[in-house]
Amino acid sequence: MRYISTRGGIESMVFMDAVMTGLARDGGLILPETLPAIDSGKLESWRNLSYQYLAREILGLFIDDLSGNEIETLVEESYRAFSHPQVTPVRKVGDLYILELFHGPTLAFKDVALQLLGNLFALRLQQTGSFMNIVGATSGDTGSAAIYGVRGKEGINIFILHPHGRTSPVQALQMTTVLDANVFNIAIRGTFDDGQAIVKELFNDLGFRDTYHLGAINSINWARVLAQVVYYVYSFFKLRKAGFDSVDFSVPTGNFGDIFAGFVAKRLLPEGCINRLILATNENDILTRFVNRGDYSIAGVRPTSSPSMDIQVASNFERYLYFLRDRDSARVRSDMEEFAASGRLDLSALRQRVARDFVSTSVSEEETIATIADVYREHDYLLDPHSAVGVRAARELAGERPVICLATAHPAKFGDAVRKAIGRDVDMPPALAGLEERESRCEILDADTDTVKNYVREHAITGRD
Ligand SMILES: *Cc1c(COP(=O)(O)O)cnc(C)c1O
Repeated sequence: MRYISTRGGIESMVFMDAVMTGLARDGGLILPETLPAIDSGKLESWRNLSYQYLAREILGLFIDDLSGNEIETLVEESYRAFSHPQVTPVRKVGDLYILELFHGPTLAFKDVALQLLGNLFALRLQQTGSFMNIVGATSGDTGSAAIYGVRGKEGINIFILHPHGRTSPVQALQMTTVLDANVFNIAIRGTFDDGQAIVKELFNDLGFRDTYHLGAINSINWARVLAQVVYYVYSFFKLRKAGFDSVDFSVPTGNFGDIFAGFVAKRLLPEGCINRLILATNENDILTRFVNRGDYSIAGVRPTSSPSMDIQVASNFERYLYFLRDRDSARVRSDMEEFAASGRLDLSALRQRVARDFVSTSVSEEETIATIADVYREHDYLLDPHSAVGVRAARELAGERPVICLATAHPAKFGDAVRKAIGRDVDMPPALAGLEERESRCEILDADTDTVKNYVREHAITGRD
């Protein structure tokens, strides 16, 4: 399998190079040259596999520059840190199927991808004896998951920008209490989008990028999307065992990363296995407006109780656009240039096609909190606010098929919202207990590209002994 850019401006490359590249040098996003699809025979042969075995099979379809043994080791190491034997179990809660993605070390679904990505980086650096500096922006969960993915790893320094005072207190502490010498937390005085824009500028400065061997961990990295494809397929098999041949998924989305993995899984499985993807947004609804009206246009960011989805520019959107434009990379490039210049794209002519893959709704703050309260009262099950957005959308848009709702974070990570809904504190799981008492380390900087660049320059790793 070779990898290309959505904007068509790079030579095709193998998987490990795609992982190390992050954002393509022409400004586009990296995608496999073709999306693999399996037949029903293969489907049968996969149905009883453990999470790890299934991951090896799926990764193997997209990677031909690593050996089977290397992939096996990567998968074993990456999912060892998960506290549930099934890695991502499905729980039946009333008539809902909840896909619990929060059993990793930082209790959010991003661990599924970032544990793997950290090990991929380490493997590559082991092979080459080189070094890298990871620079990423987070609205909360990516940062801690990325930090846990690479803390203490040789040859890697990691710089994570988070919006000062705009993550939940637990999210900030999960990052800043990691004191390994290779971890640098930067709180910027600005929003997540400011942070993401600064990171993009650092990567687009090709001289800077080459000198410091910048590596990306944001959901623009293809390996992240790939890791997430696995749990769609795994949970599909769980429902198939329960007698369903076709399912819908409800996905609480911000950057279009998780749901794009669902799109890849839909293409991977035989027609009809995955029927519809329900794209659930909070009040930051650019993606819902896109699906329902073809209106992809920026509005201001509104803070909500699901901060990991408080995003207006969805960094993975371009990957889907590439398929929507029938792989016409010149067209994608001009679309994205138009979007960069005007902050909007009119895609209403493509609405019918979009409707074959997605339905969407935006969920208000009130509805989010009410959903946490309802599900708790009815089923004694606690949702975090992101997962609640997905569940609420599923209840609104469910058709005849069962809906698998992605639960993307543990409720204890977002204690304030949950307390508001159920009137009491959430019990702290061991991973979060005592965070406030721990020592923490963080640098507060202005949301300014040069300021951040200088900080990275001063603290970067530039060689290995
Ligand atoms: C990141 C995140 C999301 C959104 O995922 P995208 O890939 O950006 O769509 C949803 N819920 C939680 C808890 C997250 O951390």
